[in-house]
Amino acid sequence: MIPFLDMKARNTPLKEEYMKVIGEVIDSGDFSGGSYVEQFEQNFAKYCGSGHAVGVGSGTEALWLTMLAMGIGPGDEVITVPMSFVATAEAICQTGAKPVFVDIDEHTYTMDPNALEAVITPLTKAIIPVHLFGQVAEMDTIMGIARRHGILIIEDAAQAHGAEYKGRKAGSFGGAGCFSFYPGKNLGAFGEAGAVVTDDAELASRLRRLRNHGQSSKNRHSEIGWNCRMDGIQAAVLSLKIAHLDRENELRRNHARIYDKGFDAVEGLTSPEVGPRRTHVYHVYAIRVLNRPAICRRLEEKQIAFSVHYPVPIHLQEAFQKFGWKTGDFPVSEQCANEFISLPVFPEMTFDQASDILIELKAALTHGIAA
Ligand SMILES: *Cc1c(COP(=O)(O)O)cnc(C)c1O
Repeated sequence: MIPFLDMKARNTPLKEEYMKVIGEVIDSGDFSGGSYVEQFEQNFAKYCGSGHAVGVGSGTEALWLTMLAMGIGPGDEVITVPMSFVATAEAICQTGAKPVFVDIDEHTYTMDPNALEAVITPLTKAIIPVHLFGQVAEMDTIMGIARRHGILIIEDAAQAHGAEYKGRKAGSFGGAGCFSFYPGKNLGAFGEAGAVVTDDAELASRLRRLRNHGQSSKNRHSEIGWNCRMDGIQAAVLSLKIAHLDRENELRRNHARIYDKGFDAVEGLTSPEVGPRRTHVYHVYAIRVLNRPAICRRLEEKQIAFSVHYPVPIHLQEAFQKFGWKTGDFPVSEQCANEFISLPVFPEMTFDQASDILIELKAALTHGIAA
């Protein structure tokens, strides 16, 4: 059995260290916000090359609270992609703004900048490019368009901790970058957590206020906020884990190179492409195949775990039907939704496991095409 992700292999080697630091949080009593969160915010801002980081309860909260802090709400439009985790569009809806989609590029699976300008209207307030699977979107072009129209950029970097574009880290390009530390992410907590990074000191301080009930000083609430604070235990664990992120991302890239080489010139399979001047961090290694059901059956038989990110694009989800999208509106996303298979690429995966997956997949492909 080859798992899709091995949480135990991930967390056991440093368990003693985690237990020690969790013990320290218990002794300090800094469970909600506090010194461990402040320390992690400094560590994470520095890592991303951003001026500020604001810890929150999840990646979804990071997206929602950022839009709130930017004054986005009813009557506004926010542009993003339909091929993402649902949270991206969901956060837009929860502010009261209307989500507007542009399709993804068929090579990088990130926002197609050529389709962007056509959907900008006088109501457009922000663009949320998603660094899908761990690859930064085409930021130069997207930022150029945004600047020309005076529109804000919020990066959904929930899958891209440490990914680079022209030597700069994901999250550091837009007005704000939103991260998730959900346990399975490249930088994962022991529960729910997220953060926003930004160079804008005013935005950072508004985010700090909003995440804590709009409190400006003790018992004084200057605006309506919410409880989006980060846990001290999560922050303490993340401060330990961040020291290992680059090494783990390098291991993911090693696995990806093994797959890339093995899949080179294999018919009926498209391996992921890395755009120019990018460093991919392979949160997900997604291949595309034409005959997915047959190939998935074969992988199941061989006890190789896989996943599909994402089998239903957001514009075709039941919850989004009220906006009136239909099949055919975003053809690249729809085709990818039918063809994607995510293969195991977790850092602790062994060379033998990657080789076995390669062999079985190639066999499945011949089998699948014949079937
Ligand atoms: C995981 C994820 C989110 C949401 O993060 P949570 O911490 O689970 O709320 C948002 N966007 C993308 C692209 C994600 O992968």
